[in-house]
Amino acid sequence: MNDKPEHFIIDGKRLDGRNLDELRPIKIEMSPLDRADGSCYLEWGNNKIMAAVYGPRELHPRHRQNMTRSVVQYRYNMASFSVDERIRPGPSRRSVEISKVSREAFEPVVFTKFFPRTAIDVFIEVLQADAGTRTAGINAASLALADAGIPMRGLVSACAVGKVDGRIVLDLMKEEDNYGEADMPVAMIAGGRITLLQMDGRLTTEEFYEALKLAKTGCDKVYELQRQALLEKYGGEHPVDAEDVSLEGDTDEQ
Ligand code: ADP
Repeated sequence: MNDKPEHFIIDGKRLDGRNLDELRPIKIEMSPLDRADGSCYLEWGNNKIMAAVYGPRELHPRHRQNMTRSVVQYRYNMASFSVDERIRPGPSRRSVEISKVSREAFEPVVFTKFFPRTAIDVFIEVLQADAGTRTAGINAASLALADAGIPMRGLVSACAVGKVDGRIVLDLMKEEDNYGEADMPVAMIAGGRITLLQMDGRLTTEEFYEALKLAKTGCDKVYELQRQALLEKYGGEHPVDAEDVSLEGDTDEQ
């Protein structure tokens, strides 16, 4: 692991040359996997993420089936070669937690009542990790779900914000994530409804609201890239702009 840098911000720029409110470059490839019902490969800075969606398909074992809706299952996994030191294969406390909160980020979004007794399986494989993998995974999962034709209220877009050198910054890189004062991953549906918010570290109330505002700006930018990727693949004016879709009572949240 690198040592803690003395400063994270020098002359208004971060260690990788970005402005405080700037995202790392994002590259999206739709449908790279033939066997999955939907898939997406996403690069975000030095993160490399593959998302695969299978379903809706019959859920086994059958006692886990829900008679009134589909069960969304989400597995976040880091490849053993995704970081400098080899990661032991299999679930860890961290990957179980990330899988849980990521699944919950999609719960208010997927119209699960259309598909009783089935499972919708989302697999996230982190091939290369460099901070922000849970948010990168959510962005890729969102597109893979859309690619699989799963009806959703809207795309989920995610990014992390945090605090370094006393300043609020967008999209933490590795050093900022490891040694910064706060790290706050956020996911939201277009329009600003938050479906995931976690925080590591400390922020004052004012800093929290500043960070939230910056996260909204970041998620809006990510949403535009996601929307563009879908437009390129499928065309049309509003590929999955389900903001207008009013199907109250068809999500899991009530
Ligand atoms: P996120 O990837 O969502 O930011 P964390 O804040 O837990 O999640 O992790 C930050 C970064 O630390 C990861 O993206 C990865 O680069 C690194 N990291 C996480 N777990 C490990 C691990 N077991 N070994 C080495 N590096 C890790």
